[in-house]
Amino acid sequence: MVIYLKPGADADRIKRALIARGQWIQQTEKGASGEVLSFSLASYSMALDAAELEAIDGVARVGAPASEHPRVDAQGPRVLVSGVEIGGDAPPVLLSGPCAIESEERIQGIARQLAPLGVTFLRGGAYKPRTSPYAFQGHGAEALRWMRRAADAHGLKVVTEAMSEADVPLVAEFADLLQIGSRNMQNFSLLKVAGKAGRPVLLKRAMAATVEEWLLAGEYLLAHGAPGVIFCERGIRGFDGSTRNLLDLGAVALLAAVHRLPVIVDPSHATGRRDLVLPLARAALAAGAAGVMIETHDDPAQALSDGPQALAPAQLRDLFPPRSQR
Ligand code: PEP
Ligand code: MN
Repeated sequence: MVIYLKPGADADRIKRALIARGQWIQQTEKGASGEVLSFSLASYSMALDAAELEAIDGVARVGAPASEHPRVDAQGPRVLVSGVEIGGDAPPVLLSGPCAIESEERIQGIARQLAPLGVTFLRGGAYKPRTSPYAFQGHGAEALRWMRRAADAHGLKVVTEAMSEADVPLVAEFADLLQIGSRNMQNFSLLKVAGKAGRPVLLKRAMAATVEEWLLAGEYLLAHGAPGVIFCERGIRGFDGSTRNLLDLGAVALLAAVHRLPVIVDPSHATGRRDLVLPLARAALAAGAAGVMIETHDDPAQALSDGPQALAPAQLRDLFPPRSQR
């Protein structure tokens, strides 16, 4: 809430009146000559009717706060990525591939299997954010080349993660869509560099980020020049270990229907269970997602990361028909 003051009002007295009513003043906006124009209240202030606040002597009116992410608000529901429309009226897109790019032969084989199944984007990590420093960290620059060749050979686009500022230029050279991983959603230095890279960005939600923090991370990218931001919900930290994370479909519907933004859902990392991936992919599309990102592997038992959640490529056949037949 924002409390707008009448000209000449006693700002100090209004401030005390707000505090007396359990209101936290988060920001004070002043005019050119230093006079207080408005007070912005924190969301954790005591719940009061606007009428009660408007009744304070010297208050002109009570309004909603101005958005802190005007570029995100203005972007619109559709982003164009190397000629592929994502969001808006476009049919849902399917982004799929292994967790990590393991070898050139393997990614070629996976891309060959995915291409006829309605997949538009080949996914896979060249740089892998692993919880343990001893786990497979990805093949780096070499993997970017393998991935690009495999995608080109089968008419696919590439989405892959840049983990650090130093990776961004090379990733932007090989990828159509630059991925920012969950663990880096609030790595503001990385967001600034990624924004300048000239590629649209797939921004994964951090596992404990509020929707507002996620939108502000998108604002960083747009403010630094990104041609478009697609949001990706991949599950947040829950209290229950039955699924790897907790898929927040409410946030998906909120972004799609209220904020009118393109949002992709990743049910693989959200659940960690391959038996739940397709049901939640369908639920995501019903909630308004512009597409789904699903991990697939030709031999999940041998996968170097995230094997237990990987589907066989052929399992995507049940999700929806290829774009060409829609
Ligand atoms: C990924 O998609 O490869 C990945 C690492 O996911 P997240 O950042 O959501 O954990
Ligand atoms: Mn993974």
